[in-house]
Amino acid sequence: MGVTRREFIKTSAAAAAAASIGTALLPGGIKPLFADSGMQWHKSVCRFCGVGCGVMVGVKNGKVVAVRGDKFNTINKGHLCIKGFYLHKVIYSKTRLTHPMIKKNGKFEKVSWDEALDYVAKKFNEIRKQHGPDALAFYGSGQAETEETYMANKLFKGCIGTNNMEGNPRLCMASAVGGYLTSLGLDEPSGTYDDIEKAELFLLIGSNTAEAHPILFERIVRHKAKNPNVKIVIIDPRTTPTDQVADLHLFPKPGWDLAILHAMARIIIKEGYADEQFIKDNVVIKGNDKKNMTFEQYKQFLEKYTPEYASKISGVPAEDIVKAARLFGQAKTAMSMWTMGINQRTRGVWANNLITNLHLLTGKIGKPGSDTFSLTGQPNACGGVREGGGLCHLLPGHRKVANAKHREEVAKVWGVPVKNIQPKPGKHTIAMFTALNEGKIKGIYIMCTNPAQSLPNASKYWKGLKEQFVVVAESFFPTATTQYADVVLPAAFWAEKEGVYGCTERRSQYMPKVIEPMGEARWDAFILRDLGIRMGFKKEFEKYQTAEDIWNEYLTLTKGRDMDLSGATYRRLKEVRGLRWPVPSEDHPGTYKRYVKGDPIFDELPAEKKKGRWIYFYGKPEGKAVIWARPDKGPEEPTDDQYPFALTTGRVLEHWHTNTMTGTVPELNRAVPKAYVEINPEDAKALGIANKDQVIVETRRGKLKIEARVINRPEKGTLFIPWHWEEWMANVLTIDAFDPGSKEPEYKVCAARIKKA
Ligand code: SF4
Repeated sequence: MGVTRREFIKTSAAAAAAASIGTALLPGGIKPLFADSGMQWHKSVCRFCGVGCGVMVGVKNGKVVAVRGDKFNTINKGHLCIKGFYLHKVIYSKTRLTHPMIKKNGKFEKVSWDEALDYVAKKFNEIRKQHGPDALAFYGSGQAETEETYMANKLFKGCIGTNNMEGNPRLCMASAVGGYLTSLGLDEPSGTYDDIEKAELFLLIGSNTAEAHPILFERIVRHKAKNPNVKIVIIDPRTTPTDQVADLHLFPKPGWDLAILHAMARIIIKEGYADEQFIKDNVVIKGNDKKNMTFEQYKQFLEKYTPEYASKISGVPAEDIVKAARLFGQAKTAMSMWTMGINQRTRGVWANNLITNLHLLTGKIGKPGSDTFSLTGQPNACGGVREGGGLCHLLPGHRKVANAKHREEVAKVWGVPVKNIQPKPGKHTIAMFTALNEGKIKGIYIMCTNPAQSLPNASKYWKGLKEQFVVVAESFFPTATTQYADVVLPAAFWAEKEGVYGCTERRSQYMPKVIEPMGEARWDAFILRDLGIRMGFKKEFEKYQTAEDIWNEYLTLTKGRDMDLSGATYRRLKEVRGLRWPVPSEDHPGTYKRYVKGDPIFDELPAEKKKGRWIYFYGKPEGKAVIWARPDKGPEEPTDDQYPFALTTGRVLEHWHTNTMTGTVPELNRAVPKAYVEINPEDAKALGIANKDQVIVETRRGKLKIEARVINRPEKGTLFIPWHWEEWMANVLTIDAFDPGSKEPEYKVCAARIKKA
């Protein structure tokens, strides 16, 4: 690559430093590193988080040798965080799985693709015949391309005839979906990243944006640097690198923030920051019983939530709650952003509702610089799984299995009898793995995800993985999950396949195939196609010869839907840096804001509906969004005398999810080679724990021996463990109670104790 070791180390160090401070990330071209003739550059998308940064992939002699930020991509304008910068190294990881394997007498043996797929097809058909279609299940991923999830959807829901199809976004995004549906009527944000540079206030809640979404954080920081009037309010139980730019940080006890949001709403109304005309025109107010309330009744409901009451519940000083409410109320525009600290809760949907309440009360939605904006953790959780219908209650195109018309529309395009698609939702993730434990599900196909590590209360679900027939389609080997597999299928990775990712801001982006897959690895969509054919669904699957065949069929299912992508053909996507839906025709430029002028669906609403309205929430009756008067509920497992600490989990900048990818890159691994538990110095002193001591962290579900990091990051009474490592698996400790609405588990808080080992 024409770069000396010294230059490389310098660049890497600069990248690490820049990424960790989040203010001056890598520019689009670091010339000495990339100035190499003979390199071909291809436009693509980062493989990690849901920000969706554009990357340029440098290929030489059939190998990906470099990645740089795509300066023409408006998401990241050439910048990348350190994970994106090292993306190409993941391809050549020593742990790549390069040939199919079947476990024989307890040992994996290399087999041919024919043998592997014939075996899976035979086993799945036997299970289906003997125990019915619901004895089978599929568990997929927000990292799978839309085309891949689409093929799984058709095979399991349309052909096999079971809705036992889930994806890991259930574990990270489901509460945001529930929040959008109940508050605004349709899933996914109304605005886009373009709002960042127009916002006056950012409410970052339950989000360590600097480490989990670094490029968006960088955009916020740059915007604030240019506009000192911009304010940032953080609500999060822990000090994180995001704090570097905070004007105000509220530290609630983990899981006790709902009362703060109600108290903020109360102050906003009392101090005259509510936009009563906006509320009258565009909002209905509902109690938790779904009955309508008047504005007066809502005010009565909020009376309980004085700053002092919220302070007592949350531990946040009352004056800080007042300050936060005033900052939100006074700003002309406001963007709320949140991640897992809000979603991964037993009342995640309610928390989402209460954040959106603040925007609906003040009319700070639908206008440039104002939005209620959930950040996504995976590159295609929005695209393939939410839009593509990769959960047990969904069908492609934001459709539902419970809706007869939706089933008919999908069955027609799939060319399957409509009776194949079951009207009842299948088993959601926790129910699916519980059924696997109970032997009710006897065969499962796991694609591009690592549930043996990522499930909450993880060790509880190893039994089912051990006992039932498990197929794992993976790029890497071994993972916590592959050890339980009966068959492991090697999957092509990122630049080895083409397809589409849909990121947080409703933008679909195309990724080309630029190199051949390692060894015998194959594209997941075609593995599923060939499995379908072998299972007897020849006519249903033989027709797909290219990725574009699959995408084109999917586009027909988006036509006329709120997430209309029918104008986003491969031809266009190959040229542009993605398109934001709705994009209903090939000459449509995509949509910046939903529900307002410029959104093709709003523009085409009948004049009588829009009369006197500049915003129309067309997913709700009369186009009105909902302010919810939800109760304030704390965590499922509050602290007590036996388990006096609140344990919370999260991420570090250099690693991603269960580390199957980032853990293979030496530079990233060296940055944070192992897990640790953060403990506040006061707590540590009281327990006689010193920095770097080995400690035992224990919950009602398990214990973990781990190194202590005595640091002023968690508040007193709180512990924090990053969850990336299989050797120190934080998820054996976390609780698997889940939100009754979204079915998303409460990873973010449980009761724990800690002692010196
Ligand atoms: S912010 Fe996310 S999408 Fe962008 S480079 Fe980093 S990991 Fe990739």
